Amino acid sequence: MAEKLLAVKGMNDILPPESARWEWLEGKVRDLMTRYAYRNIRTPILEHTQLFVRGIGEVTDIVEKEMYSFEDRSDKNGDHAFLTMRPENTASVVRAVTEHNLLYEGGKRLYYMGPMFRRERPQRGRYRQFHQIGAEALGFGGPEVDAELILLAAALWNEIGITDWRLEINSLGQPEERSQHRAQLIAHFEQHADMLDEDARRRLHSNPLRILDTKNPAMKAVVESAPRLIDFLGAASLAHFNALKAILDANGVPWTLNHRLVRGLDYYNLTVFEFVTEQLGAQGTLCAGGRYDYLIEQIGGKPAPAVGWALGVERVLELVRETGQSMPVLTPDAYAIVPDAAAAPLVLQTLQTLRAQGVSVQMHASAASTAEGMGSMKSQFKKADASGARFALIFGENELASGCVAVKPLRGSKSEAAPEQSLRKLDEAVAWAAILRGRT
Ligand code: ATP
Ligand code: MG
Repeated sequence: MAEKLLAVKGMNDILPPESARWEWLEGKVRDLMTRYAYRNIRTPILEHTQLFVRGIGEVTDIVEKEMYSFEDRSDKNGDHAFLTMRPENTASVVRAVTEHNLLYEGGKRLYYMGPMFRRERPQRGRYRQFHQIGAEALGFGGPEVDAELILLAAALWNEIGITDWRLEINSLGQPEERSQHRAQLIAHFEQHADMLDEDARRRLHSNPLRILDTKNPAMKAVVESAPRLIDFLGAASLAHFNALKAILDANGVPWTLNHRLVRGLDYYNLTVFEFVTEQLGAQGTLCAGGRYDYLIEQIGGKPAPAVGWALGVERVLELVRETGQSMPVLTPDAYAIVPDAAAAPLVLQTLQTLRAQGVSVQMHASAASTAEGMGSMKSQFKKADASGARFALIFGENELASGCVAVKPLRGSKSEAAPEQSLRKLDEAVAWAAILRGRT
């Protein structure tokens, strides 16, 4: 036998029955987004590398070391391109919104779901292909939209039964305010240079704000004593932040102020926030976002404000799993028992009719070739039981000869409509389909 090929490290298969949990979450999200009037957007996985370099920022973990990038082969005309598998979706959304001029008649509320790629060290809650669900509101500048997005995320936790979450918020102010803070921050860290780790020293002059985001416990003291951004905010920035807090309070959404919350991506201003949980160990951030009023312009669009968040699907689902909620188990309504493959044309015709009526039917199929047959009735009934179906449809020779199929309730599933095995006319399938559906 040939050598077995395995998946790429840090990239997971999502298999049934676990995939049902993913579909369940996606369904909840679609329903919720619709209620908040957010519309779905789907952008390509591959973008020009430059989009992320410009959008996310050169001095970020993502752009410095986590991107899957490659040089594309030349087209016929000699064009070639540096491409990157999207590490996040905000830059792509902004690119698409700009490219298609979606803001021409006002703001847009959008959401996405899909895989993202970052070359990180794989561990619990951290993968190289992972999935995000995100919501973005572009073309709106007020704090009420920041609040709407936070309320939307909180509503999602509620819908999916997650209660162990904490909302942390901060304001990064505007670029001028940040640059004043930055000077003081650098001075503070230079004064305590001996307490900085290598990463922090490297960032000191390129991206000192990110030092506040350190996960190194040895730097706790030097980071806690650092000058706080909030003390540098002007009246307008403070008013924006206070208005957001007032809306959260009015809606009973508890928040805590985290002065060290700066986010890993460069493009944020004013509001930033994270939903965190204590239940997932080190990878406890479920959802993160904030305002990015300068990104659209940075990517070449007409200046417009924007705000959004992204949640990590793997982390959220791990938390859902811990709540012990049972997921809907996917079982067919009926299992078709086919003693003789020669009946296949008639069998499939009937099943097509039933499925068009909303019945879920699993057809018996044999691993063996036609010549070897479909397997004994006994083994077929065993499979029918294992499938969880409530009915067996027996397409036996005698039944077919009279233009019928036998409908047999399985296990304890005898329904009032069909307590015992009964014969049903093939050409009347539309009429008796409701019995199999078990819901009328
Ligand atoms: P972290 O601090 O955990 O690395 P981040 O700041 O890099 O997160 P964002 O870029 O804001 O994360 O992405 C939003 C969310 O996507 C995160 O809060 C997290 O839930 C999820 N996420 C990010 N990176 C990964 C990954 N490598 N594997 C799984 N989920 C991830
Ligand atoms: Mg990260």
